[in-house]
Amino acid sequence: MKEWLRSIPPVHELQKDPEYIQIADEFGIDSAQVHQILTHSLNHVRDEIIKEIWQGPPVASNEFVNWLWTQVRIQVKAQWSKKLKKVINATGTVLHTNLGRAPLSKSAIERIVQTASSYSNLEYNLTEGKRGSRHDLIENMLLQLTGGEAALVVNNNAAAVFLVLRALAREKEVIISRGQLVEIGGSFRVSSIMEESGAVLKEVGTTNKTHLHDYVHALSENTAMVMKVHTSNFKMIGFTKTVPVEELVSLKEHKSNLIVYEDLGSGVLYDFREDGIGEEPKIQSVINSGVDLISFSGDKMLGGPQAGIIIGRKVFIDRLKKHPLTRALRVDKMTLAGLEATLLHYSAGEKGLKEIPVIRNILLSKEEIFERSQAFIRLFKEKFRTFHVNCKESCSQVGGGAMPDVQLETYVITVRHDRLDAHLIEEKLRKASTPIIVKIRDDEIQLDLRTVEESDYQDILSAFSLMED
Ligand SMILES: *Cc1c(COP(=O)(O)O)cnc(C)c1O
Repeated sequence: MKEWLRSIPPVHELQKDPEYIQIADEFGIDSAQVHQILTHSLNHVRDEIIKEIWQGPPVASNEFVNWLWTQVRIQVKAQWSKKLKKVINATGTVLHTNLGRAPLSKSAIERIVQTASSYSNLEYNLTEGKRGSRHDLIENMLLQLTGGEAALVVNNNAAAVFLVLRALAREKEVIISRGQLVEIGGSFRVSSIMEESGAVLKEVGTTNKTHLHDYVHALSENTAMVMKVHTSNFKMIGFTKTVPVEELVSLKEHKSNLIVYEDLGSGVLYDFREDGIGEEPKIQSVINSGVDLISFSGDKMLGGPQAGIIIGRKVFIDRLKKHPLTRALRVDKMTLAGLEATLLHYSAGEKGLKEIPVIRNILLSKEEIFERSQAFIRLFKEKFRTFHVNCKESCSQVGGGAMPDVQLETYVITVRHDRLDAHLIEEKLRKASTPIIVKIRDDEIQLDLRTVEESDYQDILSAFSLMED
Protein backbone atom coordinates (compact mmCIF):
# COMPACT_ATOMS: atom_id res chain seq x y z
CA MET A 1 0.00 0.00 0.00
CA LYS A 2 2.81 2.39 0.94
CA GLU A 3 4.38 1.58 -2.39
CA TRP A 4 1.19 2.67 -4.14
CA LEU A 5 0.89 5.88 -2.15
CA ARG A 6 4.48 6.74 -3.07
CA SER A 7 3.85 6.21 -6.78
CA ILE A 8 0.97 8.71 -7.01
CA PRO A 9 2.36 11.53 -9.17
CA PRO A 10 2.95 14.67 -7.04
CA VAL A 11 0.96 17.86 -7.74
CA HIS A 12 4.03 19.84 -8.81
CA GLU A 13 4.73 17.23 -11.50
CA LEU A 14 1.15 17.27 -12.73
CA GLN A 15 1.24 21.07 -12.89
CA LYS A 16 3.80 20.78 -15.67
CA ASP A 17 1.40 18.70 -17.76
CA PRO A 18 -0.07 20.85 -20.62
CA GLU A 19 -3.51 19.66 -19.50
CA TYR A 20 -3.20 21.81 -16.36
CA ILE A 21 -3.16 25.11 -18.27
CA GLN A 22 -5.40 23.72 -20.99
CA ILE A 23 -8.25 23.08 -18.52
CA ALA A 24 -7.89 26.53 -16.96
CA ASP A 25 -8.03 28.14 -20.44
CA GLU A 26 -10.91 26.04 -21.62
CA PHE A 27 -13.16 26.99 -18.72
CA GLY A 28 -11.80 30.52 -18.37
CA ILE A 29 -10.74 30.04 -14.75
CA ASP A 30 -7.58 30.75 -12.77
CA SER A 31 -5.08 27.85 -12.61
CA ALA A 32 -5.29 28.08 -8.80
CA GLN A 33 -8.83 26.70 -9.13
CA VAL A 34 -7.52 23.75 -11.17
CA HIS A 35 -4.82 23.26 -8.55
CA GLN A 36 -7.43 23.06 -5.81
CA ILE A 37 -9.55 20.51 -7.64
CA LEU A 38 -6.47 18.47 -8.62
CA THR A 39 -5.29 18.33 -4.99
CA HIS A 40 -8.75 17.37 -3.88
CA SER A 41 -8.91 14.53 -6.43
CA LEU A 42 -5.49 13.21 -5.41
CA ASN A 43 -6.46 13.26 -1.72
CA HIS A 44 -9.51 11.28 -2.61
CA VAL A 45 -7.40 8.65 -4.39
CA ARG A 46 -5.03 8.50 -1.40
CA ASP A 47 -7.95 8.03 0.92
CA GLU A 48 -9.36 5.14 -1.09
CA ILE A 49 -5.96 3.43 -1.24
CA ILE A 50 -5.63 3.67 2.54
CA LYS A 51 -9.12 2.28 3.03
CA GLU A 52 -8.23 -0.44 0.51
CA ILE A 53 -11.20 0.36 -1.69
CA TRP A 54 -9.27 1.88 -4.61
CA GLN A 55 -10.57 0.47 -7.90
CA GLY A 56 -9.13 2.90 -10.43
CA PRO A 57 -6.19 2.27 -12.78
CA PRO A 58 -2.70 1.52 -11.32
CA VAL A 59 -1.45 4.80 -9.90
CA ALA A 60 1.97 4.62 -11.52
CA SER A 61 0.56 4.29 -15.04
CA ASN A 62 -0.18 6.75 -17.86
CA GLU A 63 -3.67 5.43 -17.71
CA PHE A 64 -3.93 6.85 -14.18
CA VAL A 65 -2.84 10.31 -15.32
CA ASN A 66 -5.44 10.27 -18.10
CA TRP A 67 -8.07 9.10 -15.64
CA LEU A 68 -7.10 11.87 -13.24
CA TRP A 69 -7.43 14.65 -15.82
CA THR A 70 -10.84 13.33 -16.83
CA GLN A 71 -11.91 13.51 -13.16
CA VAL A 72 -10.57 17.06 -12.86
CA ARG A 73 -12.43 18.08 -16.00
CA ILE A 74 -15.70 16.63 -14.68
CA GLN A 75 -15.23 18.46 -11.38
CA VAL A 76 -14.30 21.76 -13.00
CA LYS A 77 -17.25 21.50 -15.33
CA ALA A 78 -19.64 20.77 -12.46
CA GLN A 79 -18.33 23.71 -10.45
CA TRP A 80 -17.70 26.34 -13.10
CA SER A 81 -20.21 25.84 -15.89
CA LYS A 82 -23.00 28.43 -15.98
CA LYS A 83 -25.82 27.46 -13.70
CA LEU A 84 -28.38 29.90 -15.03
CA LYS A 85 -28.79 29.17 -18.69
CA LYS A 86 -31.04 29.48 -21.67
CA VAL A 87 -33.67 26.76 -22.03
CA ILE A 88 -36.03 26.16 -24.91
CA ASN A 89 -39.61 26.25 -23.67
CA ALA A 90 -41.51 23.77 -25.85
CA THR A 91 -44.43 23.50 -23.41
CA GLY A 92 -46.44 26.25 -25.09
CA THR A 93 -47.04 27.87 -21.68
CA VAL A 94 -46.29 31.51 -22.43
CA LEU A 95 -45.55 32.76 -18.90
CA HIS A 96 -43.88 29.67 -17.47
CA THR A 97 -43.24 30.43 -13.79
CA ASN A 98 -40.38 27.93 -13.56
CA LEU A 99 -38.78 29.10 -16.79
CA GLY A 100 -38.35 32.78 -16.01
CA ARG A 101 -41.77 34.10 -17.05
CA ALA A 102 -41.63 36.79 -19.77
CA PRO A 103 -38.91 36.75 -22.44
CA LEU A 104 -38.13 40.36 -23.35
CA SER A 105 -38.43 42.18 -26.66
CA LYS A 106 -35.34 42.85 -28.75
CA SER A 107 -35.36 46.54 -28.02
CA ALA A 108 -35.84 45.94 -24.27
CA ILE A 109 -32.75 43.71 -24.36
CA GLU A 110 -30.77 46.30 -26.34
CA ARG A 111 -31.71 49.03 -23.88
CA ILE A 112 -30.71 46.84 -20.93
CA VAL A 113 -27.33 46.08 -22.48
CA GLN A 114 -26.76 49.74 -23.32
CA THR A 115 -27.69 50.93 -19.84
CA ALA A 116 -25.66 48.24 -18.13
CA SER A 117 -22.55 48.97 -20.14
CA SER A 118 -22.43 52.73 -19.64
CA TYR A 119 -23.12 55.45 -17.11
CA SER A 120 -26.67 56.76 -17.13
CA ASN A 121 -28.81 59.54 -15.68
CA LEU A 122 -30.37 57.04 -13.26
CA GLU A 123 -30.33 59.58 -10.45
CA TYR A 124 -29.22 62.73 -12.23
CA ASN A 125 -31.51 65.45 -13.54
CA LEU A 126 -29.99 66.45 -16.87
CA THR A 127 -32.13 69.59 -17.23
CA GLU A 128 -31.14 71.07 -13.92
CA GLY A 129 -27.71 69.54 -13.55
CA LYS A 130 -28.36 68.15 -10.11
CA ARG A 131 -29.39 65.03 -8.26
CA GLY A 132 -32.53 63.40 -9.65
CA SER A 133 -34.69 60.43 -8.69
CA ARG A 134 -34.89 57.06 -10.40
CA HIS A 135 -38.59 57.04 -9.52
CA ASP A 136 -39.26 59.95 -11.90
CA LEU A 137 -37.79 58.36 -15.03
CA ILE A 138 -40.70 56.31 -16.33
CA GLU A 139 -43.50 57.61 -14.12
CA ASN A 140 -44.93 59.87 -16.83
CA MET A 141 -44.96 57.11 -19.38
CA LEU A 142 -46.86 54.86 -16.96
CA LEU A 143 -49.37 57.63 -16.29
CA GLN A 144 -49.92 58.37 -19.96
CA LEU A 145 -50.58 54.70 -20.67
CA THR A 146 -52.89 54.10 -17.71
CA GLY A 147 -54.47 57.42 -16.83
CA GLY A 148 -53.25 57.22 -13.22
CA GLU A 149 -52.21 60.21 -11.07
CA ALA A 150 -48.88 58.86 -9.85
CA ALA A 151 -46.81 55.69 -10.09
CA LEU A 152 -43.94 53.87 -8.43
CA VAL A 153 -41.94 50.84 -9.57
CA VAL A 154 -40.47 48.36 -7.08
CA ASN A 155 -38.69 45.02 -7.28
CA ASN A 156 -41.73 42.79 -7.90
CA ASN A 157 -45.42 42.69 -7.18
CA ALA A 158 -44.96 40.84 -3.89
CA ALA A 159 -42.80 43.80 -2.79
CA ALA A 160 -45.49 46.19 -4.03
CA VAL A 161 -48.17 44.47 -1.92
CA PHE A 162 -45.88 44.46 1.10
CA LEU A 163 -44.96 48.13 0.72
CA VAL A 164 -48.56 49.29 0.26
CA LEU A 165 -49.69 47.41 3.37
CA ARG A 166 -46.71 48.39 5.49
CA ALA A 167 -46.66 52.07 4.56
CA LEU A 168 -50.41 52.69 4.55
CA ALA A 169 -52.03 50.14 6.86
CA ARG A 170 -49.54 49.14 9.54
CA GLU A 171 -51.32 48.34 12.81
CA LYS A 172 -54.59 49.17 11.09
CA GLU A 173 -57.27 46.88 9.75
CA VAL A 174 -57.37 45.77 6.16
CA ILE A 175 -60.64 44.22 5.06
CA ILE A 176 -60.41 41.40 2.56
CA SER A 177 -62.82 38.77 1.27
CA ARG A 178 -62.21 35.18 2.42
CA GLY A 179 -62.47 34.16 -1.22
CA GLN A 180 -59.39 36.23 -2.02
CA LEU A 181 -56.98 35.02 0.68
CA VAL A 182 -55.08 33.19 -1.99
CA GLU A 183 -51.72 31.51 -2.24
CA ILE A 184 -49.78 32.55 -5.31
CA GLY A 185 -47.17 29.84 -5.81
CA GLY A 186 -44.01 29.33 -3.75
CA SER A 187 -44.41 30.85 -0.31
CA PHE A 188 -46.47 33.89 -1.23
CA ARG A 189 -49.74 33.88 0.64
CA VAL A 190 -51.74 37.06 0.90
CA SER A 191 -52.42 36.32 4.58
CA SER A 192 -48.75 35.83 5.46
CA ILE A 193 -47.56 38.90 3.59
CA MET A 194 -50.19 40.88 5.47
CA GLU A 195 -49.00 39.51 8.79
CA GLU A 196 -45.40 40.39 7.93
CA SER A 197 -46.42 43.91 6.98
CA GLY A 198 -47.98 44.53 10.39
CA ALA A 199 -51.43 45.17 8.89
CA VAL A 200 -54.31 43.53 10.73
CA LEU A 201 -56.27 41.15 8.55
CA LYS A 202 -60.02 41.47 8.76
CA GLU A 203 -61.64 38.66 6.80
CA VAL A 204 -65.17 39.04 5.55
CA GLY A 205 -67.69 36.90 3.69
CA THR A 206 -67.25 33.22 2.90
CA THR A 207 -65.04 31.30 0.51
CA ASN A 208 -67.55 31.49 -2.33
CA LYS A 209 -69.63 34.59 -1.58
CA THR A 210 -68.87 38.04 -0.27
CA HIS A 211 -71.40 40.89 -0.44
CA LEU A 212 -70.98 44.64 -0.17
CA HIS A 213 -72.82 44.62 3.17
CA ASP A 214 -70.17 42.23 4.56
CA TYR A 215 -67.61 44.98 3.98
CA VAL A 216 -69.91 47.67 5.37
CA HIS A 217 -70.34 45.72 8.62
CA ALA A 218 -66.62 45.23 8.98
CA LEU A 219 -65.74 48.93 8.72
CA SER A 220 -64.50 50.33 12.01
CA GLU A 221 -62.52 53.21 13.41
CA ASN A 222 -59.38 51.19 12.93
CA THR A 223 -59.98 50.32 9.26
CA ALA A 224 -57.34 51.75 6.93
CA MET A 225 -57.95 49.84 3.75
CA VAL A 226 -60.13 47.54 1.73
CA MET A 227 -58.04 45.23 -0.37
CA LYS A 228 -59.14 43.22 -3.38
CA VAL A 229 -56.87 40.47 -4.65
CA HIS A 230 -57.21 39.24 -8.17
CA THR A 231 -57.63 35.47 -7.85
CA SER A 232 -55.44 35.10 -10.85
CA ASN A 233 -54.35 31.49 -10.54
CA PHE A 234 -57.69 29.80 -10.06
CA LYS A 235 -61.26 30.28 -11.18
CA MET A 236 -64.25 29.85 -8.91
CA ILE A 237 -67.39 28.72 -10.65
CA GLY A 238 -70.94 28.02 -9.54
CA PHE A 239 -72.60 29.74 -6.58
CA THR A 240 -70.23 32.66 -6.18
CA LYS A 241 -70.27 36.40 -5.58
CA THR A 242 -67.48 38.90 -5.39
CA VAL A 243 -67.90 42.65 -5.08
CA PRO A 244 -66.60 44.55 -8.11
CA VAL A 245 -64.09 47.26 -7.37
CA GLU A 246 -66.53 50.03 -8.47
CA GLU A 247 -68.77 49.00 -5.58
CA LEU A 248 -65.89 48.79 -3.11
CA VAL A 249 -65.14 52.40 -3.97
CA SER A 250 -68.64 53.31 -2.74
CA LEU A 251 -67.55 52.24 0.78
CA LYS A 252 -65.81 55.59 1.02
CA GLU A 253 -69.25 57.09 1.55
CA HIS A 254 -69.16 55.35 4.92
CA LYS A 255 -65.55 56.20 5.70
CA SER A 256 -63.93 59.08 3.86
CA ASN A 257 -60.28 58.25 4.61
CA LEU A 258 -60.64 54.62 3.49
CA ILE A 259 -58.08 53.42 0.93
CA VAL A 260 -59.33 51.02 -1.73
CA TYR A 261 -56.48 48.93 -3.14
CA GLU A 262 -56.57 46.20 -5.78
CA ASP A 263 -53.71 43.76 -6.32
CA LEU A 264 -54.25 42.91 -9.97
CA GLY A 265 -51.53 40.26 -10.10
CA SER A 266 -51.05 40.25 -13.84
CA GLY A 267 -52.55 43.48 -15.14
CA VAL A 268 -52.88 44.12 -18.87
CA LEU A 269 -52.33 47.19 -21.01
CA TYR A 270 -53.57 45.30 -24.05
CA ASP A 271 -57.20 44.26 -24.28
CA PHE A 272 -57.04 40.52 -24.95
CA ARG A 273 -60.84 40.40 -24.73
CA GLU A 274 -60.96 41.93 -28.21
CA ASP A 275 -59.30 38.76 -29.46
CA GLY A 276 -61.74 36.63 -27.50
CA ILE A 277 -59.10 35.74 -24.90
CA GLY A 278 -60.05 35.88 -21.21
CA GLU A 279 -61.97 38.50 -19.27
CA GLU A 280 -59.13 40.61 -17.92
CA PRO A 281 -60.10 44.31 -17.90
CA LYS A 282 -57.41 46.75 -19.00
CA ILE A 283 -55.50 48.58 -16.27
CA GLN A 284 -56.93 51.85 -17.63
CA SER A 285 -60.50 50.80 -16.88
CA VAL A 286 -59.60 49.52 -13.40
CA ILE A 287 -58.15 52.94 -12.62
CA ASN A 288 -61.26 54.62 -14.04
CA SER A 289 -63.35 52.68 -11.52
CA GLY A 290 -62.10 55.12 -8.88
CA VAL A 291 -59.82 52.72 -6.99
CA ASP A 292 -57.10 54.49 -4.97
CA LEU A 293 -54.22 52.13 -5.69
CA ILE A 294 -53.49 49.15 -7.88
CA SER A 295 -50.39 46.98 -8.27
CA PHE A 296 -49.32 44.37 -10.80
CA SER A 297 -46.24 42.51 -12.06
CA GLY A 298 -43.92 43.74 -14.81
CA ASP A 299 -43.10 40.24 -15.99
CA LYS A 300 -46.51 38.66 -16.32
CA MET A 301 -48.98 39.70 -19.04
CA LEU A 302 -47.26 43.06 -19.44
CA GLY A 303 -44.30 41.20 -20.97
CA GLY A 304 -41.51 43.20 -19.35
CA PRO A 305 -38.76 42.58 -16.78
CA GLN A 306 -39.42 41.54 -13.17
CA ALA A 307 -40.96 44.51 -11.40
CA GLY A 308 -43.92 45.54 -9.26
CA ILE A 309 -45.80 48.54 -10.58
CA ILE A 310 -47.96 50.60 -8.24
CA ILE A 311 -50.31 53.21 -9.70
CA GLY A 312 -52.86 55.44 -8.01
CA ARG A 313 -53.60 58.64 -6.12
CA LYS A 314 -50.67 60.97 -5.73
CA VAL A 315 -51.15 61.45 -1.96
CA PHE A 316 -50.61 57.74 -1.38
CA ILE A 317 -47.84 57.22 -3.95
CA ASP A 318 -45.98 60.18 -2.38
CA ARG A 319 -46.18 58.45 1.01
CA LEU A 320 -44.84 55.24 -0.55
CA LYS A 321 -41.97 57.09 -2.24
CA LYS A 322 -40.90 58.59 1.10
CA HIS A 323 -41.12 55.33 3.04
CA PRO A 324 -37.69 53.95 4.11
CA LEU A 325 -38.63 50.48 2.87
CA THR A 326 -38.86 51.82 -0.70
CA ARG A 327 -35.08 52.14 -0.72
CA ALA A 328 -34.80 48.42 0.04
CA LEU A 329 -37.28 47.47 -2.65
CA ARG A 330 -36.09 49.76 -5.42
CA VAL A 331 -35.34 48.54 -8.93
CA ASP A 332 -32.00 48.86 -10.65
CA LYS A 333 -31.13 50.64 -13.88
CA MET A 334 -31.43 47.51 -16.02
CA THR A 335 -34.99 46.89 -14.89
CA LEU A 336 -35.93 50.50 -15.60
CA ALA A 337 -34.32 50.35 -19.05
CA GLY A 338 -36.17 47.12 -19.93
CA LEU A 339 -39.46 48.37 -18.55
CA GLU A 340 -39.22 51.69 -20.37
CA ALA A 341 -38.56 49.92 -23.68
CA THR A 342 -41.50 47.56 -23.06
CA LEU A 343 -43.85 50.44 -22.25
CA LEU A 344 -42.72 52.23 -25.41
CA HIS A 345 -44.02 49.31 -27.45
CA TYR A 346 -47.48 49.90 -25.99
CA SER A 347 -47.43 53.55 -26.99
CA ALA A 348 -46.45 52.55 -30.55
CA GLY A 349 -49.78 50.78 -31.15
CA GLU A 350 -50.42 47.63 -33.19
CA LYS A 351 -46.89 47.35 -34.59
CA GLY A 352 -45.23 47.91 -31.22
CA LEU A 353 -47.39 45.30 -29.52
CA LYS A 354 -46.14 42.57 -31.85
CA GLU A 355 -42.61 43.32 -30.62
CA ILE A 356 -43.52 42.04 -27.15
CA PRO A 357 -42.96 38.25 -27.15
CA VAL A 358 -45.62 37.58 -24.49
CA ILE A 359 -48.33 39.36 -26.48
CA ARG A 360 -47.13 37.94 -29.80
CA ASN A 361 -47.12 34.39 -28.45
CA ILE A 362 -50.51 34.63 -26.77
CA LEU A 363 -52.04 36.01 -29.97
CA LEU A 364 -50.49 33.39 -32.29
CA SER A 365 -53.35 31.65 -34.08
CA LYS A 366 -53.75 27.92 -34.31
CA GLU A 367 -53.23 28.20 -38.09
CA GLU A 368 -49.90 30.02 -37.66
CA ILE A 369 -48.74 27.35 -35.22
CA PHE A 370 -49.84 24.65 -37.68
CA GLU A 371 -47.63 26.25 -40.37
CA ARG A 372 -44.68 26.40 -37.98
CA SER A 373 -45.21 22.79 -36.95
CA GLN A 374 -45.35 21.58 -40.56
CA ALA A 375 -42.08 23.34 -41.39
CA PHE A 376 -40.44 21.81 -38.31
CA ILE A 377 -41.77 18.34 -39.12
CA ARG A 378 -40.30 18.54 -42.66
CA LEU A 379 -36.86 19.26 -41.18
CA PHE A 380 -37.34 16.52 -38.62
CA LYS A 381 -38.33 13.86 -41.15
CA GLU A 382 -35.34 14.63 -43.37
CA LYS A 383 -33.06 13.85 -40.47
CA PHE A 384 -34.53 10.95 -38.53
CA ARG A 385 -35.67 7.42 -39.25
CA THR A 386 -36.27 5.86 -35.82
CA PHE A 387 -38.41 8.71 -34.47
CA HIS A 388 -42.06 8.95 -35.46
CA VAL A 389 -43.46 12.42 -35.62
CA ASN A 390 -47.01 13.70 -35.93
CA CYS A 391 -49.11 16.78 -35.41
CA LYS A 392 -52.40 17.20 -33.59
CA GLU A 393 -54.73 19.79 -32.09
CA SER A 394 -54.27 20.73 -28.46
CA CYS A 395 -54.33 23.71 -26.08
CA SER A 396 -51.63 25.96 -24.66
CA GLN A 397 -51.85 27.94 -21.43
CA VAL A 398 -51.07 31.57 -20.68
CA GLY A 399 -49.45 30.50 -17.38
CA GLY A 400 -47.77 32.62 -14.71
CA GLY A 401 -50.94 32.38 -12.68
CA ALA A 402 -52.75 34.47 -15.27
CA MET A 403 -56.00 33.58 -17.05
CA PRO A 404 -56.21 30.05 -15.57
CA ASP A 405 -59.40 29.22 -17.43
CA VAL A 406 -58.18 30.30 -20.87
CA GLN A 407 -57.31 27.55 -23.35
CA LEU A 408 -55.38 28.85 -26.35
CA GLU A 409 -56.02 26.61 -29.33
CA THR A 410 -52.81 25.19 -30.72
CA TYR A 411 -51.17 22.28 -32.52
CA VAL A 412 -48.57 20.10 -30.87
CA ILE A 413 -45.92 17.97 -32.51
CA THR A 414 -45.93 14.49 -31.02
CA VAL A 415 -42.78 12.37 -31.05
CA ARG A 416 -42.38 8.66 -30.37
CA HIS A 417 -39.41 6.33 -30.80
CA ASP A 418 -39.30 2.63 -31.69
CA ARG A 419 -37.46 1.69 -28.51
CA LEU A 420 -36.88 4.76 -26.29
CA ASP A 421 -39.73 5.56 -23.94
CA ALA A 422 -41.13 9.07 -23.62
CA HIS A 423 -39.67 9.68 -20.14
CA LEU A 424 -36.19 8.82 -21.36
CA ILE A 425 -36.53 11.13 -24.35
CA GLU A 426 -37.83 13.90 -22.07
CA GLU A 427 -34.81 13.46 -19.79
CA LYS A 428 -32.32 13.55 -22.68
CA LEU A 429 -33.92 16.72 -24.06
CA ARG A 430 -33.89 18.32 -20.58
CA LYS A 431 -30.20 17.47 -20.17
CA ALA A 432 -29.15 18.68 -23.62
CA SER A 433 -26.52 21.44 -23.81
CA THR A 434 -29.38 23.86 -24.46
CA PRO A 435 -32.06 22.17 -22.36
CA ILE A 436 -35.42 21.62 -24.05
CA ILE A 437 -38.46 21.47 -21.79
CA VAL A 438 -41.36 19.42 -23.17
CA LYS A 439 -44.60 17.85 -22.00
CA ILE A 440 -45.41 14.15 -21.95
CA ARG A 441 -48.97 13.08 -22.75
CA ASP A 442 -50.12 9.50 -23.45
CA ASP A 443 -46.53 8.22 -23.54
CA GLU A 444 -45.64 10.72 -26.24
CA ILE A 445 -43.37 13.74 -26.23
CA GLN A 446 -45.26 16.89 -27.14
CA LEU A 447 -43.68 20.04 -28.55
CA ASP A 448 -45.84 23.17 -28.69
CA LEU A 449 -44.10 25.66 -30.97
CA ARG A 450 -46.15 28.61 -29.63
CA THR A 451 -43.21 29.40 -27.34
CA VAL A 452 -40.36 28.26 -29.61
CA GLU A 453 -38.45 30.53 -31.99
CA GLU A 454 -37.37 29.34 -35.43
CA SER A 455 -33.76 30.03 -34.39
CA ASP A 456 -34.15 27.25 -31.78
CA TYR A 457 -35.02 24.49 -34.29
CA GLN A 458 -31.38 23.50 -34.88
CA ASP A 459 -30.74 23.02 -31.16
CA ILE A 460 -33.83 20.83 -30.88
CA LEU A 461 -32.81 18.73 -33.87
CA SER A 462 -29.28 18.22 -32.53
CA ALA A 463 -30.62 17.11 -29.18
CA PHE A 464 -32.72 14.46 -30.94
CA SER A 465 -29.84 13.40 -33.16
CA LEU A 466 -27.78 12.43 -30.07
CA MET A 467 -30.45 9.81 -29.38
CA GLU A 468 -30.58 8.25 -32.83
CA ASP A 469 -28.30 5.33 -33.39
C1 LIG B 1 -48.16 36.95 -9.22
C2 LIG B 1 -48.93 37.65 -8.21
C3 LIG B 1 -48.28 38.32 -7.15
C4 LIG B 1 -46.78 38.29 -7.00
O1 LIG B 1 -46.18 39.01 -8.00
P1 LIG B 1 -44.59 38.85 -8.28
O2 LIG B 1 -44.32 39.83 -9.36
O3 LIG B 1 -44.37 37.45 -8.64
O4 LIG B 1 -43.91 39.22 -7.01
C5 LIG B 1 -49.05 38.97 -6.23
N1 LIG B 1 -50.40 38.98 -6.33
C6 LIG B 1 -51.07 38.35 -7.32
C7 LIG B 1 -52.56 38.38 -7.36
C8 LIG B 1 -50.35 37.67 -8.31
O5 LIG B 1 -50.99 37.02 -9.28
